[in-house]
Amino acid sequence: MGEMKQTRRELAAAFRWAARLNYHEAVANHFSAAVSDDGQKFLINPRGRHFSRMRASELVLIDTAKIDDDGIDYGVDPTAWILHSHIHQKIPNARVLMHSHMPYATTLACIEEFEFLMLDQNACRFFRRIAYDRNYSGMLLEASEGERLASLMTEGKDVLFLGNHGVLVAAPSVAECFEKLYYLEHASKLQVLALSTGRPLSLIGDAVASATRKQWDEYPEAAQMFLSELMKILDEESADYIK
Ligand SMILES: [Zn+2]
Repeated sequence: MGEMKQTRRELAAAFRWAARLNYHEAVANHFSAAVSDDGQKFLINPRGRHFSRMRASELVLIDTAKIDDDGIDYGVDPTAWILHSHIHQKIPNARVLMHSHMPYATTLACIEEFEFLMLDQNACRFFRRIAYDRNYSGMLLEASEGERLASLMTEGKDVLFLGNHGVLVAAPSVAECFEKLYYLEHASKLQVLALSTGRPLSLIGDAVASATRKQWDEYPEAAQMFLSELMKILDEESADYIK
């Protein structure tokens, strides 16, 4: 199978599972995967399609060099276009981007001056990996906003908390990006629940958090195994995602 075809299938599977896990919101939110080395060409969800109905062949192939407006004529949401096009081109490791308003991570993004807590083993995956945008200024409809947000994701930061809005996760592959999104929401859920107890929290120190992140990073094939299993479940239950 060609690389493009496989990327389409994996991305369609990620949409279907995001819907099952309630990471979607109406027909908003967007995932994309770069398919050229310079990040100028990428696949992204068509405007208006529900995540639970996404099919591999429906993903829109965008060529940044050929678009000089808001992308709407190409069947893509303008805010998706602005956010994803800048980050794919500016950050070499951001081959795949997933933007979600998933409820627990977004809750944390709405807490004043919030910094992600090293609260549990899953949270340690994100040690010194998160950038914060604390300047919410409305919907992402200006190219300058895309550039500004891309500029925050430097020094190895591959997760962006968009204050009062949601999150953006970047990774080299669909499998790694979806796994990161999954663990981010899991760890965020635990933090919201822990904070809601009002009791003092037992946090993990920097040295242990850093070492645990390294262990996560070196854990072999975990993301690929996870996506592979999710695709097998879809093969059994809603195989039209690969069409
Ligand atoms: Zn959004």
